[in-house]
Amino acid sequence: MTAMILVHPPVAKACEPPAGITKLAGFLEANGVNCTLIDANLEGMFHILRSPVEAHDTWTKRAARNCVRNLKALHEWSIYKNLDRYSRAVMDLNRIIATHGLKTGAQLSLSDYRHKNLSPLKSDDLLWSAEHPEADPYHSFFSGRLPGIAEADTDGVVGFSLNYLSQALTTFSMIGYMRRELPGLRLVLGGGLVTSWCRRQGLRNKLAGLVDDVVSGPGEYTLLRILGKNLTVSGETAPQFSGLRTGEYLSPGLILPYAASSGCYWGRCSFCPEQAEGAGYHPVAPELAVTHLRRLEAASKPALFHLADNAVSPAFMESIIRERSARGASAAGEKSGVTPWYGFARITPHLSDPDFCAALAASGCVMLKLGVESADQDVLDSMRKGHDIETARLVLAALKGAGISTYVYLIFGTPQERETSARATLGFVTQESGHIDFLNLALFNLPIGSAEADLLETRPFFGGDLSLYTDFVHPLGWDRRRVRQFVEREFSRHPAVQKILRKQPPFFTSNHAPLFAVKERCT
Ligand code: SF4
Repeated sequence: MTAMILVHPPVAKACEPPAGITKLAGFLEANGVNCTLIDANLEGMFHILRSPVEAHDTWTKRAARNCVRNLKALHEWSIYKNLDRYSRAVMDLNRIIATHGLKTGAQLSLSDYRHKNLSPLKSDDLLWSAEHPEADPYHSFFSGRLPGIAEADTDGVVGFSLNYLSQALTTFSMIGYMRRELPGLRLVLGGGLVTSWCRRQGLRNKLAGLVDDVVSGPGEYTLLRILGKNLTVSGETAPQFSGLRTGEYLSPGLILPYAASSGCYWGRCSFCPEQAEGAGYHPVAPELAVTHLRRLEAASKPALFHLADNAVSPAFMESIIRERSARGASAAGEKSGVTPWYGFARITPHLSDPDFCAALAASGCVMLKLGVESADQDVLDSMRKGHDIETARLVLAALKGAGISTYVYLIFGTPQERETSARATLGFVTQESGHIDFLNLALFNLPIGSAEADLLETRPFFGGDLSLYTDFVHPLGWDRRRVRQFVEREFSRHPAVQKILRKQPPFFTSNHAPLFAVKERCT
């Protein structure tokens, strides 16, 4: 049987299986390709946590001493009832990871990888990492792990899925290592970040000789072609998780990611990379998507579904409600046997309907992430968000009324924002603080290639040829320095905002937030 290996490199949050390689595996297996999945992120993290720690201070010594106990605690529900205990466990585990990183000049954490001299936004630095894999903080892990996969029963094709900047340096180190030590393998590089780089920064030319194939966009058909297989099943397939160490992810039960679409059904927000890349919207039919969920539920007994769509469509929500109410789900949600779920949703009128939200809660929805972005209607309109701020108020109230937690995303410093707009957003949050459980605050980044970039005076930003964003002269004088000062010194210090920010799970943020919501509903 045709076979290949799919690798999810470090660093990403190791709390659930990776969405990218499991989705690919579902499609490839349906088309007769046997996939070996390697979550090198999870395995690499455990390799570091189980290695001897050079502890020179009290905190690191305590972290090393309590490592096994902290790992065990994060696999149990009880710790998600107590944010202080949870935070201590997570910070201690992170201390071990960070201490390990320092040996190679890396600033490693449970969710990120930065380096004091190397930038994932510079192709020269990525290529340097490929040439010097021994300098990577994960080298002791992958130099022991990768030779074994070359001996596996595959056709010698290895695909790397690169989705986040935090994965880039180690991805290139691993590729460089394989190129040098395991010649003869066909190396394929794809994933969301690679797609963005290809579409906007011409990455492909810069990688000549390092990898055999660069995949831009969904990799399903390209991989079949590379493997010389004919398409036998063309429809949407469910993700495939077998072979992963599903019991080891840092969560109290299995969290399964599932995306019922790629792209975004709205696709109009001016600041959105999806929009800048013109990726298009490709949904799975809602009835088929709920069938996938039901099958995954039966096969894997997950504790939680993470609906990984850029925005869960109203049609998909309605299908989940229909399917689960047909199964007799009650307002008790998870107690009735349906698996809880969470995801991103747009602010839309149907979410302001208390009855709809009650049905959503009964279907297992424990948390929605919502891009409120700003409380200034002119700013929202110029961003083409497609919602009005009064609807946002109603949505937050209706969701909270139904027992669904809200995770609100805000952006400061958009080209249309003034200081008064940012203050209006602060006013909104303080007024609605009783309906907001979690907050994500971001400074606006202008995507290169966006329509807005053509209208503004721009200048290079992060000093890297692979940067996806550009700096710009703010047309209203509300520049990045002033915006940052406002967010850090005024917005974040408001007592109502602080109270919300203090609830944020460190490092795992929105990935673990719903676990606290599930816990609340269970008690
Ligand atoms: S709703 Fe989200 S994903 Fe969709 S276009 Fe707007 S920002 Fe992008």
